[in-house]
Amino acid sequence: MSVRDYDAIVVGASFGGLAVARQLRGEVLLLDRNEVGTVQTSACGTPLWVPVSLGVRDSVLQVHEWLEIRTPTRTVRYDLSSVPFCTFDYRAFCEGLLAQCRVRFLRTSVSGIQDGAVLTGEGRFTAPIIVDGSGWRRAITGPTEGSSRRRRHSFGLETHTPLQDRGLTFLLDRRLIPQGLGWIFPVGQGSLVGLGSYAGRSKLKPALERLLRDQGTAAGRYHGTYFPNQLLRPTVGGVFAVGDAAGQCLPLTAEGIRPALYFGGECGRIVQRILEGRQSLEAGLEAYRRLVARYRRPYRMLQFAQWMAAHTPTRWFAVVTQLAATRPFLPRWWPRYGWFGHAAPADVAAAT
Ligand SMILES: Cc1cc2nc3c(=O)[nH]c(=O)nc-3n(C[C@H](O)[C@H](O)[C@H](O)COP(=O)(O)OP(=O)(O)OC[C@H]3O[C@@H](n4cnc5c(N)ncnc54)[C@H](O)[C@@H]3O)c2cc1C
Repeated sequence: MSVRDYDAIVVGASFGGLAVARQLRGEVLLLDRNEVGTVQTSACGTPLWVPVSLGVRDSVLQVHEWLEIRTPTRTVRYDLSSVPFCTFDYRAFCEGLLAQCRVRFLRTSVSGIQDGAVLTGEGRFTAPIIVDGSGWRRAITGPTEGSSRRRRHSFGLETHTPLQDRGLTFLLDRRLIPQGLGWIFPVGQGSLVGLGSYAGRSKLKPALERLLRDQGTAAGRYHGTYFPNQLLRPTVGGVFAVGDAAGQCLPLTAEGIRPALYFGGECGRIVQRILEGRQSLEAGLEAYRRLVARYRRPYRMLQFAQWMAAHTPTRWFAVVTQLAATRPFLPRWWPRYGWFGHAAPADVAAAT
């Protein structure tokens, strides 16, 4: 019989894993193959209330009060001032969250789970509660392979450039990328410029280089990876999954940070109840499944909008985005989207 090493093990110390870990008190092991905050995969754009409410406001690099959607036929400008966005420093954000955790962090690669034990480069670890926050690779809950990965995952590639700008920009142009979008996210010193393929195509570098030439700017280091565009199972066997490991990245906008933090935080609260003996593991798994199920409809709507963006003529989609940016439509949907993942919008609005 294996010795129980920890009360809980969390795999992955990025947005999802850290959001779980910061809720936990007890003998908790947090595992990641990299040092926390060292391997950035995202443009780190999110509503300003996110870093503010998590106590990591210092990580913010630039605040954005408008968003432009550029298509070959029209440019639509969204006023974000009711829920401003920001871009933040990945390392500072993650290190700030880690400082709030009372867990043991161990840098090691996780290769899977066997007989209830987590297999790592540093040996086997056991715990009655295991959470997979390892991103789209799903180190514990099982990788998504081949054509299934292409169907369920988008791919993004981006690079840091010296481009200075104000506001966020999305580019919808079939000549640039047939089923996907481009973005320019200013980050204080320069901008992250990237392309995302809804079809999961990973050979995006030539198209991104063309975009950079069009913008009259040069590439820095590239980073890119897959991210899911449909919900996957939030629990597998007796294991919880959060963030990209559970397919929680939002379709269309590819916003995955907020969902990973939100569902991670909720999952962490459930796990803490189990640790305190206030809930059984089975009841906790069921509560988490029910929580995620409440969001199936908005995820399906965004999936449909993503399909429209990828398959309908861009000029039609541009008309829809134009309409969505005007009254009476904008005030109806924008605050709901912008505050997704936060329980008490008014409190944070006051704090920002
Ligand atoms: C180019 C690009 C730009 C993006 N821009 C944005 C954006 O601006 N805003 C936004 O909201 N979303 C954005 N996203 C999506 C966002 O990055 C993800 O949805 C988000 O990072 C998911 O967080 P996570 O914690 O679930 O997974 P991840 O951030 O992927 O973290 C997974 C962690 O698990 C670790 N790990 C993985 N495998 C193992 C293993 N075998 N053993 C040990 N550790 C392991 C990794 O090292 C990592 O630390 C972007 C994605 C891409 C690709």
